[in-house]
Amino acid sequence: MKSEPAAGVASEPAGPPEKRQATRITRRLLKLSFMVMLPLILIPVLLPRKVSAKRLSGSKSAERSTRRESRVVREKQIQNVVDEFKIRMSIPDTVVVSVVEHNQLVVSVERTRDGTGAFSLLIEDDFLDGLTRDEIDAVVAHELGHVWIFTHHPFLQTEELANEIAIRVVREETLAVVYDKVWKRIGRKGDLVYLPTATAESSARESR
Ligand SMILES: [Zn+2]
Repeated sequence: MKSEPAAGVASEPAGPPEKRQATRITRRLLKLSFMVMLPLILIPVLLPRKVSAKRLSGSKSAERSTRRESRVVREKQIQNVVDEFKIRMSIPDTVVVSVVEHNQLVVSVERTRDGTGAFSLLIEDDFLDGLTRDEIDAVVAHELGHVWIFTHHPFLQTEELANEIAIRVVREETLAVVYDKVWKRIGRKGDLVYLPTATAESSARESR
């Protein structure tokens, strides 16, 4: 009775065969845990790419909204210039500035289609990046020159006349620099030909 070991004690690693068995089990467990751990080690190595890709697209949309915000700020700044120049150029008409993503003329002015007689001044956002403050003033003055012509019968829309009116508020040399930039951007040589949009043309006729 005394020599008979208890069942619980017998299962403990007493004899060498059990010990070997236990070692095998331990090895298998180690292998198994390595196989489980391996992906866990690799995932953090591979994951940052996905994360950075996500961050990139996130920053792109943030960039877009920043761009929109800066466009609104720019619109306000240019609107202030427009409102100041309108007084100095004796233009009573409403001129609303819009900074747009794309304008095939880079910068243009036309009557709005709502029948109020107001004008819409559209400037391409990226184009503004390459302009100094003085040059922005020159663009505004030139476009307001066109507004003045629209509202003064029987004057005809020409670049020369728009510039003649513009130099009441800005320097002629700055105008030349700016319109060289415009022409370079739209890919045409500046030959002082006014390129009115269809709307501008038809409203020019309406205003006469
Ligand atoms: Zn013009």
